[in-house]
Amino acid sequence: MADLYRENILDHYRNPRNARALPDVPEENLHENPTCGDAVKLAVELTADGRVERVAFEGHGCAMSVASASMMTELLSGRTLDQADAVVDTFIKIMQGKDDPHKLDEMNDLACFSGVIQYPVRVKCVTLAWHAVKDALERARRGQPEPA
Ligand code: ZN
Repeated sequence: MADLYRENILDHYRNPRNARALPDVPEENLHENPTCGDAVKLAVELTADGRVERVAFEGHGCAMSVASASMMTELLSGRTLDQADAVVDTFIKIMQGKDDPHKLDEMNDLACFSGVIQYPVRVKCVTLAWHAVKDALERARRGQPEPA
């Protein structure tokens, strides 16, 4: 992996964005990748008009799992729930080799994971937080009042 990419991952690993303790998120919403020891849970806060205001995560694990979660929180901020769902589904499909890897170029820092696509064990690390945020987005959606 190119040095620039590795530096980017290490930066997010050492200084994860939007990482904090989430005592209100129940343990049943903890997502784990036992083969590597990664664990993460997430909370999505919405604006009054139903956009993603902030995605926060609490987690530990390898550099790739933490960096991917950190980058994701930045990428999803400000999007509508539908947009966030679409971005999450696309990223997971790319990492699973089911979508065009060039789409990573439009996902800011996440382009650094393009070299991981052919390594299934690492794909589990990188996508863990993305599977977890699908749950968190769904919880946020259920918590929204119905539109009048
Ligand atoms: Zn891992």
